Amino acid sequence: GELVVAMDGPSGTGKSSVSRRLAQRLEARYLDTGAMYRVATLRALRSGVDLGDPVAIAIAVKDLPLTIGTDPARELIALDGEDVSAEIRGNAVTRAVSAVSAVPEVREQLVALQREMTTAAGRIVVEGRDIGTVVLVDADAKIYLTASAQARAQRRNQQNIAEGRGDDYEAVLADVQRRDTLDSTRAVSPLRPAADAILVDTSELTMEQTIDELYRVVAE
Ligand code: C5P
Repeated sequence: GELVVAMDGPSGTGKSSVSRRLAQRLEARYLDTGAMYRVATLRALRSGVDLGDPVAIAIAVKDLPLTIGTDPARELIALDGEDVSAEIRGNAVTRAVSAVSAVPEVREQLVALQREMTTAAGRIVVEGRDIGTVVLVDADAKIYLTASAQARAQRRNQQNIAEGRGDDYEAVLADVQRRDTLDSTRAVSPLRPAADAILVDTSELTMEQTIDELYRVVAE
């Protein structure tokens, strides 16, 4: 049957992996809205606009030719038909994504698409920052994943080491804290839990434990 799960929280909580695996376990679709903002950011970077100019960003991102799949077992993200799934995870996009995702016209366009895709899917886990507070306020279940900044930085640093991007815990922690501040203090859709969200702290939980806990919460 229909089931809409809103998954929010800061980066480094394991949110993406956990959301994808939860969707598989629920036999639901999966939508990564962070990837959508990353594609918008790549578009803005490629068009060479000044990231300090929200009007120019809005124009560059208008009618974004974005394709995003909802199969939790297979990632599909394209810009104008080109697979950009690797490029959107790179440093250039990661550095610029806060500026681009703060532009209201960018959010309006992507939120509309997120709502359409959710309705079309019916049974879906939607992951992001403002899903429970803005995008899908009537979701059947709202989960807000948290973890200490230190735990999140440690996970990201381990991931960097595993993927050959070096080992610098202090730099990663500084970046985690910088993004937290940017995301929680911005004027448009600041990151915060919905009043009716269930808070799950993953600092001391393994991925398996987190998924078990979420499955229990959603199945209730
Ligand atoms: O989750 P991910 O790290 O891919 O998200 C990248 C960025 O996109 C976040 O740091 C945030 O600035 C933005 N974002 C957003 N709203 C969402 C999802 C992501 O503003 N629903």
